[in-house]
Amino acid sequence: MSVRVRFAPSPTGPLHMGGVRTALYNYLLARKHGGQFLLRIEDTDQQRFVPGAEEYIREALDWCGLTPDESPWAGGPDGPYRQSERKAMYRQYAEQLIAADKAYYAFDTPEELEAMRARLLAAGVAAPAYNAVTREHMKNSLTLSTDEVKARLAGGEPYVVRLKVPRHQEVRFEDLIRGWVVVHSAHIDDKVLFKSDGMPTYHLANIVDDRLMRITHVVRGEEWLPSAPLHVLLYEAFGWERPAFAHLPLILKPDGNGKLSKRDGDRLGFPVFPLDWTDPATGERSSGYRERGYSPEAFVNMLALLGWNPGGDRELMSLAEMTELFALDRVHKGGARFDPEKTRWFNQQYLRREPDAVLGEQLRARLKTVKGIDSTPERAARAAALLKDRATFVDDMLEGLYLFTTGSPLPGNAEAEAELRKRWRPEAAPALEAYTARLEGMDRPAAAELETAFNEVLAAHGLKVGQVMPLYRLFVAGRMQGPGMFDVSALLGTQEVAARLRAGMEHCRAWA
Ligand code: GLU
Repeated sequence: MSVRVRFAPSPTGPLHMGGVRTALYNYLLARKHGGQFLLRIEDTDQQRFVPGAEEYIREALDWCGLTPDESPWAGGPDGPYRQSERKAMYRQYAEQLIAADKAYYAFDTPEELEAMRARLLAAGVAAPAYNAVTREHMKNSLTLSTDEVKARLAGGEPYVVRLKVPRHQEVRFEDLIRGWVVVHSAHIDDKVLFKSDGMPTYHLANIVDDRLMRITHVVRGEEWLPSAPLHVLLYEAFGWERPAFAHLPLILKPDGNGKLSKRDGDRLGFPVFPLDWTDPATGERSSGYRERGYSPEAFVNMLALLGWNPGGDRELMSLAEMTELFALDRVHKGGARFDPEKTRWFNQQYLRREPDAVLGEQLRARLKTVKGIDSTPERAARAAALLKDRATFVDDMLEGLYLFTTGSPLPGNAEAEAELRKRWRPEAAPALEAYTARLEGMDRPAAAELETAFNEVLAAHGLKVGQVMPLYRLFVAGRMQGPGMFDVSALLGTQEVAARLRAGMEHCRAWA
């Protein structure tokens, strides 16, 4: 039997990274076993529908490289893949359960349900429920006569179909991550499966669709674990073999205290969504990994390790490598603590591993958009090679702007000014002048040649590198941090560097 798994989001807003992780583990499991990864939109609850959410899900998964094999957009043999488009299919399954005495019609009005709750609370029942005990006292096809049920249905009275949960049964299943889960049916209420408006509830639609779509493994978040025993009962009620279940651990706040929320991200300054999202109802914006400059590979790699241990201390992995190593029995039971710093680290690692030409193109695009500067691919690639070691994001490389401009970086540069006031020493001027003259006589020197020339000049003037290099740096780059000055100078060209050095000396001499 080939593995078929699904990611089944409800389009109620942007995808939390926990949702993306669910999609990722499903994807890995499918790829590992040569199976299929499906996407099903669970939109039976029209009240919670949010415009744009489905598009968001699609774009986010594409960005992550987790494109489903079958989906509302790609189609597939078991479509449609939107539950709202499958509406007509569900009624027959509700009716099948009623015919088999596994479910029943219930006609209780909201007032009657409320009265039942109040009665039970008054009698000291902590969590009143419509269940194997209370259903005996309610208005349903178990307590009403067949004729009365028929009359009510014929009269168009609103109803719901409820699962007839057995009174005494140990419900058990083996979760692939958690091991045996055992719940007594007394703790499960007679969940609504279907409503007279023709809409199934999540539980019925989910089970029927998993069956019709031939799903072999249900891999989903821990928040669905409490529903799993009910789902097991539903499979039994239908007489269907059930898929394997695997419930993934929660993603926890950085301090380990509870589930990671969007608010934690806002408070601590990191995104919890893959892409930017603007809430259509409130206009509230939330930032995404993509727009914050993370690469999808880094994001997905980080996410994979939130709850899964590939063995050893392996951390950097491509999707193909993860596929190779992935196994559900190496997914932890306990919550996985999210670490925003580690996430930045992943991005940095991926950035460094990019070829210079690729990074150069990204830098070039940002220079154009952010600074309005045009550069050539060659220059941008060389600059990227120098700047990438200090960068976590592509935009960090914009601090090397001086590699793309002409003229002295000093005018209007308060930070450089403050440094120069501390570091300027007139004795350095003759050495810098001599070096400048040497530069002007050189034709496209390599960084090593510049370094030799510089050291020779310093030796001749009896100066140490530490006495002159900061000035060189500030005159040419306008800042103390950055790549080596000989590399920078080789890239800028001797004439440009000489001009900046002269301008710098003039600048300092003007104080005296
Ligand atoms: N629609 C559910 C969700 O939004 C699916 C749960 C499941 O995978 O069974 O997460």
